[in-house]
Amino acid sequence: MNWKFKRNPEGDTNVLVCKFGGSSLADAEQFQKVKDIVLADKNRRYVVPSAPGKRGDGDEKVTDLLYEAAAARQLGRPFLHILERIRYRYEKIVVDLGIDIPLEQEFTKIASTMMSGVSRDYVASRGEYLNGLLLAEYLGFPFVDADKVVRFDKNGLLDEEETNSLIADTLAELPNAVIPGFYGADEEGNIHTFSRGGSDITGALVARAVNADVYENWTDVTGFRMADPRIVPDAQYISSLTYRELRELSYMGASVLHEEAIFPVRKAGIPTNIRNTNDPKHPGTMIRHTAGSGDAEHVITGIAGHKGFSILTIEKDLMNAEPGFGRRVLQAVEECGINFEHLPTGIDTMCVVISDQELRPHREQLVQRIVELTQPDSVTIHDHIALIATVGRGMVRNYGTAARLFTAISSQGISIRIIDQGSSELNIIVGVDEDDFDNAVRAIYDTFVRV
Ligand code: ASP
Repeated sequence: MNWKFKRNPEGDTNVLVCKFGGSSLADAEQFQKVKDIVLADKNRRYVVPSAPGKRGDGDEKVTDLLYEAAAARQLGRPFLHILERIRYRYEKIVVDLGIDIPLEQEFTKIASTMMSGVSRDYVASRGEYLNGLLLAEYLGFPFVDADKVVRFDKNGLLDEEETNSLIADTLAELPNAVIPGFYGADEEGNIHTFSRGGSDITGALVARAVNADVYENWTDVTGFRMADPRIVPDAQYISSLTYRELRELSYMGASVLHEEAIFPVRKAGIPTNIRNTNDPKHPGTMIRHTAGSGDAEHVITGIAGHKGFSILTIEKDLMNAEPGFGRRVLQAVEECGINFEHLPTGIDTMCVVISDQELRPHREQLVQRIVELTQPDSVTIHDHIALIATVGRGMVRNYGTAARLFTAISSQGISIRIIDQGSSELNIIVGVDEDDFDNAVRAIYDTFVRV
């Protein structure tokens, strides 16, 4: 419980923190929807906007344009015409909404600060800063600049505890506020940003600091789906998810929320609700710390995965009787600076699953070092592997889940290259050839969901 933030000054109201993504604030029509959503519930007190995103296919994100301007400036090339394009985007929103914002002045300041030589982060952050000014004016809420309340160190690492106190102290005085996402500043006032999509993190930090009842993350999808709709077009929406399941699914490619956004809220026990700005009546996906074991609709919660992995297999007779064998393999992996994904082992074989991206620059070096350190009978690399994670808290209670999963895949004539079940029983990972990826995902979905 945050002692600084007196969350219920007049009684038993709730506090909701709402983050709106770039497509939710891409033009005046979207701003109108956001206003309707915020004003529909007086508990929606703190609002965190992204920069304007794409208005459709072929459109540009303001943040991409800002990075382009920063790159041009760095190379000594003209950049003012890019700022002009950005200004036009904001001006259109301002005119269409009929609000009054001194955009001319703001852009003159951005241009002159860029001339004097500033960081790429400063330039990128202006998208959220300006959108924050617009949204605050449109909603009639005070604007709290993130550079005052989101604290980074000089190296650009977030100081989460200091940020928590600063936000709590500042918002304790304000019943409502708009706080732009994506950036903050160090003690000297230099701007730093999170990685792309980082407004989700700002929203989570604000939610933690005010001890929100719910962190609402408004985007352009109606929550998480049980499988990638490009593979299973009618994949169902997931109504309830735990933070651990989310972590497993998003690590394997289900991307709706920034990976790091769950940490501040999970720590504080605050649920995150993914909602759709274009379909505000839909309850979306609710992500909680724990979910009642009875509430899982299906045995599995979701399927995620992606291509681009390799399996490195080391064989040596009597490997199991050789102490330190595994340590030496991992030493070779570590010496090459490689991050590995999984480590399924047999009696005389050990496999290391590595993404192609990690393996490619060190392939020969790694094999050579493993040979030196372990004198194996053979080392082979099997490329073009796709990993598929089948995730679900309901799997613990149900026996035969693994059998159903493997039967589903093998009945399609697909051979499973590796199997790895996390000790939590929350996740079964299989590796298949990349060409079999889509069919394997569909087979799992059909078996567990279309029943
Ligand atoms: N505008 C930033 C980006 O495009 C941050 C965000 O939208 O969350 O990455």
